[in-house]
Amino acid sequence: MNAITDADDVVDENTEAVAAVTAVTLPSRDVPVVAESEVIVVGGGPAGVSAAVAAARSGASVTLLERYSSLGGLASGGMVLVLDDMCNGSEITVTGIVAEYVERLEKYGLAVSPPESERFSSPEMWAKWGRWGTFDFQSHVTPKPICYAVSFDPDGWKRVSNDLVQDSGVNLRLHSWFSQPIVTDGRMTGVVVETKSGPQAIRGEVVIDTTGDIDVASRSGAEFVHDKYLVTLVFRLAGVDTDAAEAYEQANPRETRAINRKIKRLLGGAWELWWLKTPSPGVVWCNCPHLTGFDGADPVSLTMAEFEARERIASALELIRQDLPGFENCYLLDVAQQIGVRQTRLLQGEYVVTKEDITTRRHFADSVARGRDYYTPYRALLPRGVDQLLVAGRHYSASPQAQRMSREIPPCMAMGQAAGIAGALAVSSGDLVRDVPASLVQAGMREQGADPGDVPSANATIDEELELGS
Ligand SMILES: Cc1cc2nc3c(=O)[nH]c(=O)nc-3n(C[C@H](O)[C@H](O)[C@H](O)COP(=O)(O)OP(=O)(O)OC[C@H]3O[C@@H](n4cnc5c(N)ncnc54)[C@H](O)[C@@H]3O)c2cc1C
Repeated sequence: MNAITDADDVVDENTEAVAAVTAVTLPSRDVPVVAESEVIVVGGGPAGVSAAVAAARSGASVTLLERYSSLGGLASGGMVLVLDDMCNGSEITVTGIVAEYVERLEKYGLAVSPPESERFSSPEMWAKWGRWGTFDFQSHVTPKPICYAVSFDPDGWKRVSNDLVQDSGVNLRLHSWFSQPIVTDGRMTGVVVETKSGPQAIRGEVVIDTTGDIDVASRSGAEFVHDKYLVTLVFRLAGVDTDAAEAYEQANPRETRAINRKIKRLLGGAWELWWLKTPSPGVVWCNCPHLTGFDGADPVSLTMAEFEARERIASALELIRQDLPGFENCYLLDVAQQIGVRQTRLLQGEYVVTKEDITTRRHFADSVARGRDYYTPYRALLPRGVDQLLVAGRHYSASPQAQRMSREIPPCMAMGQAAGIAGALAVSSGDLVRDVPASLVQAGMREQGADPGDVPSANATIDEELELGS
């Protein structure tokens, strides 16, 4: 924490100057227009790449803007390495672009998932697949049922993202950090990004915000709420003898639980299965340490979280090597380049999805995307207060409680795909995005091999009023 204290000291030396100035007014400036396209997508994570590729495949010219040096968002830079929340029993509910990722990753040997014949609950299947993380985490059955879920490699995710973006003709601009919307008469007409070459403007007819924190929508006049949830600095260990580790824990469950309890105490917050196997032999994914009370949109809070997490990882590592069979020769392969932020600002759009909608599996007539067994209405991608803007991904229009249960990578990708199709439809018809009929988005999703949730599954709740009203 010394670096933070030092920074505080520097501020203290200038206290007088700092105290006197609480805000500065920037001079107005001319910003060069560096690109123009029909659809602009801001944020190149799972939702953003899906939106950009879907819009391009639907015939629109597309510019995709990403602040970092690679695509993938939390799935690559945040090293979130299991695709889940995509099946309703044996029915696979999230299809489309996510399925293309899986197919391409499998061709590269960088994805692993249980075959259909092994997706059920039994001690044998748990022993075989539990440590891959490919189980139904919502289930209360013991052992948890093995289900369709996919463990993948983060660099493979970047590679496939590049392939998809390139194949679909998207104009990609990395190292471009969104800073300002261009809004004309309540309608989005472009965005400004900060770059090493100074500010740059990109003009367009429809903007899709996939930044995860509604950076664009929140500065464009859309309504939102600001909340927080766990943040996690994920890391990977290499040099692990996973066969030995699994053999030991299966033969000695009580002793392993006791060792893991001590490790988790040092980590300060972790799921029961704090390490999972990955497609790279000897490399395990550690979805921890979890930290509470940090604000993922505040740089000071994020700086403190980064320091705290790294200290916890370092102290747990010694104990892991010393006490956990199979981990004697392990070493820290890498720590995610970006801390995992689950929730910050959430859109409060034309419809706000509630916890009850998710838990009762409420079906909406304007459903355009699905998660495991829940449905996302088109209205939850539409901000109030600004036109020609769509929002897709983990910051979609939901209550904080609902978002916690519906923000995994596959549903975010489905929302992105739907938003991309809707954006392209608005451009070709000349309609406002809010006037695009959901039925056309549903048809576009089906054409692109995705399930929009227009046909409810047997366990959905059908609310006549909502069905008729939307
Ligand atoms: C620790 C952790 C564990 C998780 N575990 C799982 C799991 O096991 N399985 C699962 O499916 N999901 C999991 N999730 C959830 C999942 O990772 C996210 O909800 C999902 O990645 C959201 O996708 P997104 O595209 O909406 O946002 P993000 O992945 O956050 O992508 C946003 C993108 O926008 C870019 N961006 C942001 N701001 C700007 C800006 N101003 N200008 C330009 N670009 C910008 C970012 O760099 C990033 O590329 C986990 C999340 C966390 C944090």
